[in-house]
Amino acid sequence: MLKKKIMKQLVHIVGEDNVQSSNASKLAYSYDATPQFQAMPDAIVAPRNTNQVSEIVKLCCKHKVPIVPRGSGTNLSAGTTPLEGGIVLLFKHMDKLLEIDENNLTVTTQPGMNTLKLIETVEAKGLFYPPDPSSMKISQIGGNINENSGGLRGLKYGVTRDYVMGLEIVLPNGDIIRTGGKLAKDVAGYDLTRLFVGSEGTLGIVTEATLKLVPLPESKKTMLALYEDLNAAAESVSKIISSRIIPTTLEFLDQPTLKVVEDFSKIGLPTHVQAVLLIEQDGTADAVEQDMKKMQQICQENGAVQVDTARTEAEAEALRTARRSALSALARLRPTTILEDATVPRSEIARMVQSINEIAKKHRVDICTFGHAGDGNLHPTCLTDERNKEEIERVEAAFEEIFKKAVELGGTITGEHGVGAMKSNYLHLKVGEAGISVMQSMKNAFDPNNIMNPGKIFAKSNPKRVVVKR
Ligand SMILES: Cc1cc2nc3c(=O)[nH]c(=O)nc-3n(C[C@H](O)[C@H](O)[C@H](O)COP(=O)(O)OP(=O)(O)OC[C@H]3O[C@@H](n4cnc5c(N)ncnc54)[C@H](O)[C@@H]3O)c2cc1C
Repeated sequence: MLKKKIMKQLVHIVGEDNVQSSNASKLAYSYDATPQFQAMPDAIVAPRNTNQVSEIVKLCCKHKVPIVPRGSGTNLSAGTTPLEGGIVLLFKHMDKLLEIDENNLTVTTQPGMNTLKLIETVEAKGLFYPPDPSSMKISQIGGNINENSGGLRGLKYGVTRDYVMGLEIVLPNGDIIRTGGKLAKDVAGYDLTRLFVGSEGTLGIVTEATLKLVPLPESKKTMLALYEDLNAAAESVSKIISSRIIPTTLEFLDQPTLKVVEDFSKIGLPTHVQAVLLIEQDGTADAVEQDMKKMQQICQENGAVQVDTARTEAEAEALRTARRSALSALARLRPTTILEDATVPRSEIARMVQSINEIAKKHRVDICTFGHAGDGNLHPTCLTDERNKEEIERVEAAFEEIFKKAVELGGTITGEHGVGAMKSNYLHLKVGEAGISVMQSMKNAFDPNNIMNPGKIFAKSNPKRVVVKR
């Protein structure tokens, strides 16, 4: 519990209405979208501007109070669970889009801005902000930046990192710095912008961001390729990429996922096949037509039993929405849904899908797989029940094997969801002890008191997924 003196000072900084400490509100912010992790904060604080953030941080720094910056809490790595208590910092008042600069093709925004709202606002001006995490209806730009989120368009357009040009940051001692800017070129010192992208709230607080925009593509087409054989679908992914076509979207759904998504969305998805690829291309009308034809041919040559092109934008949007709802649809089946994001080089997709299925069988667990196949970013999703300890142990063993396999194939333990608390015990598999040590030195240099989102990225005493109560 925070000392009365600290609570009083927090109220002095942001006003009474913006400090919550009732049991109900603490409970509401004790968890995020990640199953099995929960811990109570001491207070929830909602600043109105950067200066207030800075004052809060100075106070917390002085009294060594943990700060957990929280966007919409949709992260899947227990990144916003307040494992060591302290305050949860909300950006509900800092949610404004500050400027669209049509000369420099940038948008400047506060961290609490909703992702989809930003995308729609710039599209109305004929501009395009490509990063589109499936959670974009709810997620915030500050959360996207701190997880370096990807999305369905990541294959062609890259991830959030590729669009962050400049940041305003409140450091763990309360100092305010600006990195980068509206500049196409800037090599003045270390690239702090890149360092903060994906730092999961452990190095400082993003209070403003300048993001790159690109022209909105003139035309877009969407198709669905159906497969009776999982490996044939995965092979098609490798073949499309190696034939030097980079589609906007190249998504994979296996049959169990398809069945559940269809049951949820009722748009007539084919549930009789083993897998589908959702493929999309954008660009000039001619180039799109040409690429779609070529990709259709590649899919057919590599075992697709049917390839259907969406006839209208409404049909295409229904397919995209269905794919984006995969996690929510799967979550209806059993009490606990654990979604992972093991990622491999694109060329290893077929082998990784096969390995996931073998590992699931060996450990007798239900794993459905979908994901951004073109990025090599798969989401093996386990449907389980956290109350069944014996089953959860098998789930843990299966995921550990999946991570090891991904790394063995040249991949990583997480492609877009971050390490958080959930995967801190697996980080060494990817970066080694020396890698962890250099990251820890950086963390110590920025945050010697370890007040920024403690318990994330670096493993502590919680060896596996646990329910942490305070
Ligand atoms: C249904 C569903 C679908 C998803 N689909 C995708 C997907 O396609 N691609 C993908 O990459 N992820 C996806 N995710 C994961 C998640 O939505 C993303 O990581 C998203 O970027 C998190 O945004 P948020 O606003 O909810 O951030 P939160 O979950 O609140 O926070 C995420 C991290 O950012 C930090 N943070 C938040 N704001 C700030 C700030 N202003 N300053 C410093 N640190 C801050 C937090 O401390 C935390 O470490 C999905 C999640 C769900 C539930």
